[in-house]
Amino acid sequence: MTNGAVVEQAGRRYETVCTLSGCLFITVRRPAPLYTSPLFLGLLAAGALVGLGLGLIVDGAVARLRAPGRQLRKALTAGDLEVVYQPIVRIADRQRVGAEALLRWRDAQGRTISPEVFVPIAEQDGFVSELTRFVVRRVLDDLATALVENIGFKVSVNISASDLLDTGFARFVARELQRRGLNPACLGFEITERSTAARAAMAQGIQRLRQAGHGVFIDDFGVDYSSLSYLSQLQVDGIKLDRSFITALGDDHTANIVPQIVQMGQVLGVALVAEGVETDGQAAYLASLDPNLLGQGWLFSRPLPADQLFS
Ligand code: C2E
Ligand code: MG
Ligand code: MG
Repeated sequence: MTNGAVVEQAGRRYETVCTLSGCLFITVRRPAPLYTSPLFLGLLAAGALVGLGLGLIVDGAVARLRAPGRQLRKALTAGDLEVVYQPIVRIADRQRVGAEALLRWRDAQGRTISPEVFVPIAEQDGFVSELTRFVVRRVLDDLATALVENIGFKVSVNISASDLLDTGFARFVARELQRRGLNPACLGFEITERSTAARAAMAQGIQRLRQAGHGVFIDDFGVDYSSLSYLSQLQVDGIKLDRSFITALGDDHTANIVPQIVQMGQVLGVALVAEGVETDGQAAYLASLDPNLLGQGWLFSRPLPADQLFS
């Protein structure tokens, strides 16, 4: 529809008036000239206002959609993200043997955003590799001295599937460790892969990290696609049993499959970490299954700032 086009219908003449918000048909009344008619001017003004309003609404919506990714990238560039450390203990004697590094982000409004929300944003926007590298550097900066003094203590970092497939990642980690005089064994990686895709490439990525001297753990084991066959194909150092299994233990321990998973871990020779241990009852039951079982959860400690991890 073109602006100013004249349409004749049922003996009446209409003129088309197009604004940002769309086109209107205006009855042409003679002899009054259209462009001076109050109706036309009113409609034109209303159309312009509606168009402007719509434009602002759409602009705002687009900005809101883009904002988290942009804000996160800004925080990352400014080094404005925090890493906290949740201890991993041997359940039987509660000795701290390691910790998991967990990323924290407070956005410009001061709201704490869960990594379960913002890590997928970085994955979708294609900068998760920068995010992971930031975490690796921050962990090593935070804990270098403590890791030299506490031989055997292992810190694990969560990585995404794309980090695992990135052939340069292991080299990057090696450089960062060398720079600080640290042993590769002090740094492990946790992977959560919920798809069956690219399994061969994933297995290669895992082997690259293991050959470089790092432990590799399957995170959230037992949910989605992680299964026995998954485990035998991927050849890892350990599994982290998903929190849902521990929560489901309850008082009656007969109807759960944790003993079978523990046995499977023993047969395969992989370490097992129970995630989300919150009660003494859960801890006692888990320790009775295997004295070497490791655990992580609020019962032992909440995630801590770096300076409290060894105090
Ligand atoms: P995850 O790797 O399985 O980490 C364990 C999550 O469980 C953490 O949540 C931890 O705070 C929480 N948790 C630990 N103990 C308990 C407990 O006893 N009860 C309950 N209810 N929760 C417990 P968080 O820190 O919110 O992290 C959520 C997920 O975000 C992580 O799950 C991990 O998948 C991802 N994530 C965190 N940091 C990073 C990171 O640096 N990089 C990547 N790629 N992912 C990360
Ligand atoms: Mg994890
Ligand atoms: Mg987990």
